[in-house]
Amino acid sequence: MAAEHVLLPGQATLGVLGGGQLGRMFVQAAQSLGYRCVVLDPDADSPAGAVAHQHVCADYLDDAALQQLSQTCDAITTEFENVPAKALQQLAAHTWVAPAASCVSICQDRVAEKAHFVASGVACAPYAVLRQPNDVQQVPDALLPGILKTARMGYDGKGQRRVRDRAELAAAFAELGQVDCVLEQLLPLQLELSVLVARSRNGQTVCFPVQQNLHRDGILAVTEVPAPQVSAALQAQARESAVAIAQGMGYVGVLCVEFFVLGDGALVVNEMAPRPHNSGHYSMDACDIDQFEMQVRALTGLPLREPRLQSPVLMLNLLGDLWFDAQGQERTPDWAGVLALPGAQLHLYGKAQARPGRKMGHLNISAASAEATRASAQAAARLLG
Ligand code: ADP
Ligand code: MG
Repeated sequence: MAAEHVLLPGQATLGVLGGGQLGRMFVQAAQSLGYRCVVLDPDADSPAGAVAHQHVCADYLDDAALQQLSQTCDAITTEFENVPAKALQQLAAHTWVAPAASCVSICQDRVAEKAHFVASGVACAPYAVLRQPNDVQQVPDALLPGILKTARMGYDGKGQRRVRDRAELAAAFAELGQVDCVLEQLLPLQLELSVLVARSRNGQTVCFPVQQNLHRDGILAVTEVPAPQVSAALQAQARESAVAIAQGMGYVGVLCVEFFVLGDGALVVNEMAPRPHNSGHYSMDACDIDQFEMQVRALTGLPLREPRLQSPVLMLNLLGDLWFDAQGQERTPDWAGVLALPGAQLHLYGKAQARPGRKMGHLNISAASAEATRASAQAAARLLG
């Protein structure tokens, strides 16, 4: 597809690699603009496959499936970063793909990702790369205590070990299977935030309002916008950094960049995801354009528009734990009670089986003021118990 060619609403078929909840919400946004959607995912019960016009149930590297996808679709995107870059490359030979395989590859590998942050002039945690057991002895003292993270395939705190000293580092590296890792200095975090930036094929960028995030056990629990404890200057710095990171790799699509604010107020980039992000779900009910429609627009060449925040908002992640009581018995959360709260919008991903830690849905709560939003969110949290 030529760069100037726009896939108009109602006139094209869009493909998604990955059938999780992010794919599902992308498909729903695309469908409301009249696009047809095809999902590739090996899982017969995938949340996105269930709502797409067509679900190609096959492996991401299945030649016939990739061929079918590129013949059926006018443009293709991905909903998770661990899709094999080779699949994106293969599709891109025949079909417009965004984000590009080169960008997804950077995001798949913490070593390449950190190098890209440095090249973009954005500060990240001091770190070292570990590739073999001997590297444990070469690590500078200043990086301990630290966090050892596998270079690839980590998410929601998985593939990470906190280590206090060199002995623990050696043990953790062995425990993680001696795969390539980065060791990061353990930083004194004041808070965590993230920014969604979208970049078009012709280089236009827009940012969503900065999100302040609270994690529990390595998994996002709550997002609040506007970020209550982040100054306007720091928010501007986070947005500018996210734009530089996207521009520096010629990125096209929605990119989420996660940051830490340290005890002394310094901003440090943590990691990025080449897709819409859990911390951006607030935009579905609190902005005049949400992150999934933005991804559709970037993919199809439609105009991007700076999103406007319409009210303060809190997003509560709904993990599978809520589907079990204190005795471990399965139960149904009190949806009727939650939906009676003013400004509460429920999004469930259609997953049949709840498991502790599994992302089942999210609840957006908005109100006229940040105080009212928080009060409503507390009431929701009590009802969900
Ligand atoms: P994941 O891919 O699992 O999201 P992250 O690198 O974002 O991995 O780490 C998960 C969480 O661990 C972060 O949100 C943060 O709370 C904490 N964390 C990660 N790196 C550091 C660090 N260098 N110093 C302090 N805390 C960290
Ligand atoms: Mg993270």
